[in-house]
Amino acid sequence: MDMTSQRWDNTKKYLNQVFGAPTGNAPLAEQLRTLMPRAVAAGLPDIAVSGDVGALLRLLTMMACGDSASRGKVLELGTLAGYSGIWIALGLPADGRLITIEFNPVHAEFAKGEFRRAGVGEKVRVITGAALDVLPSLAQELGPGSLDLVFIDAIKTEYNEYLRLVRPLLRRGGLLVIDNALGSGHWWIDDAPGDPSHEAVDRMNRAVAADAGFAAACVPSREGVMIARKL
Ligand code: SAM
Repeated sequence: MDMTSQRWDNTKKYLNQVFGAPTGNAPLAEQLRTLMPRAVAAGLPDIAVSGDVGALLRLLTMMACGDSASRGKVLELGTLAGYSGIWIALGLPADGRLITIEFNPVHAEFAKGEFRRAGVGEKVRVITGAALDVLPSLAQELGPGSLDLVFIDAIKTEYNEYLRLVRPLLRRGGLLVIDNALGSGHWWIDDAPGDPSHEAVDRMNRAVAADAGFAAACVPSREGVMIARKL
């Protein structure tokens, strides 16, 4: 079956319609449905993951953190309005925690309000700052092997540096999840080289895939989600 651009658009819509909303909690589903339109109206960029990728993040968080008796710990780089963070928080066990780093204080404040409204405010710590500035001290605070899952979604040209800094923080069996593994707005992975974001992401994809310390795969949902288990 050939993949046309029309069929790809239809597939993305289908995935979002069928998998992209939480069930059993109508106010939360309504919050998530309206979150990015409200964020955009408040001046934030429309660059959050889609609902189906949010659902994937919740599922991966559940798988990485284990049952409700455990104390899962997740790190996110790039909070924006809290959309992906809410999905992650929904997958955390009772005592689980999400730490999310956001450079822009306006985004961070908006996200904090959304985390509270979603009922996950107590589980989420938002750190305002540049990921590369925050990560060294956070690494000291958390210690090696302390994280169950890391979700990377900040500056694409910095992905390889993020990877170097977060790798030791992931526990064995923990999951590395990376957004925009196949594209980001103005580039797609099969473009000719030349865009710095494209080149950095391609380098990181290839480095993780070739790393004997990870078992990696990539899901082509939205702009591509790379998933790797630390061995
Ligand atoms: N993960 C979010 C979601 O799906 O809902 C989307 C994140 S958005 C693609 C990237 C975010 O990273 C923006 O809010 C941007 O302000 C933030 N950002 C930019 N530079 C950063 C940096 N150096 N450190 C941390 N966050 C940064």
